[in-house]
Amino acid sequence: MGKRNAQGILSGKVVIITGASRGIGEACVREFVAEGASVAIFDLPQERDAGEKLAAELGELAQYFPCDVTSADQCEAAVKAASKKFGPITILVNNAGIAISGGLEEMSEADWDKIFSINVKGIFMVGRLVIPQMRKSGSGSIINIASESAFIGFPMHPAYCASKAAVVHLSRSMAVRYAPDKIRVNSLCPGTIDTALYRGFLASLPNPEEVHQQVLDKHPLGLGQPEDISAAALFLASDNSRYMTGAPMLVDGGSTAL
Ligand code: NAP
Repeated sequence: MGKRNAQGILSGKVVIITGASRGIGEACVREFVAEGASVAIFDLPQERDAGEKLAAELGELAQYFPCDVTSADQCEAAVKAASKKFGPITILVNNAGIAISGGLEEMSEADWDKIFSINVKGIFMVGRLVIPQMRKSGSGSIINIASESAFIGFPMHPAYCASKAAVVHLSRSMAVRYAPDKIRVNSLCPGTIDTALYRGFLASLPNPEEVHQQVLDKHPLGLGQPEDISAAALFLASDNSRYMTGAPMLVDGGSTAL
């Protein structure tokens, strides 16, 4: 995808992005830094090398902080360290998420809980620490990464679909609660995006080529790229979306229109 001309529309903003060392999160880090924001790259401790490599490439405006969004201690330490380094957080992208495929009868209880713990509870874990800083600053924008799966019942992803529908509705509740504090909360719902998560899903199947073709057939604009989603995240983060809150924003290559 061609590089857009940066306009510095996030100049001076301080951002946290979770699960940010690769995929959609990484694209958001790059886009936001290009627009002048200081970005805290949150990712699992085992992703330190990738997170630090990304931060080093981007210079002063980015730094990696270890944070498993399911750990209260790590969330607290990381939010504290990020705001100490860059100042009060005014933009949060809750991007960390996982997908484990398997029909309802086949999947384990542990996998069901893991999906909800990262995809849904992770938003609560980081959000509750950042909201007081946004309130004090007088404004904020929270972008919760949901999915087309919030609207489509994929048969082999019951927990993932349910978790992403929960993200959309959690965002509505947060939006209504925090509108008086001028904190906007929207959910961003990507279609199928070419990342390690998608490639890992294909690799887990006995018929990856067949399923990949089905995915292409289901998306009139084809497979999305991480930059297609970071462009939309930038819009939701910036004042250009100042009258939007509680909205699920579909960026799905037409999948839900089919
Ligand atoms: P990805 O390539 O797998 O990247 C996700 C990142 O989150 C990885 O760095 C991962 O680390 C990290 N992560 C996993 N568990 C975490 C935790 N507990 N705490 C903090 N970070 C954690 O995924 P992606 O495709 O970019 O997806 C990003 C978001 O978009 C997810 O919420 C996903 O559900 C959503 N989404 C993706 C697609 C798609 O087609 N790709 C479509 C719709 C929505 P590890 O690599 O170590 O696990």
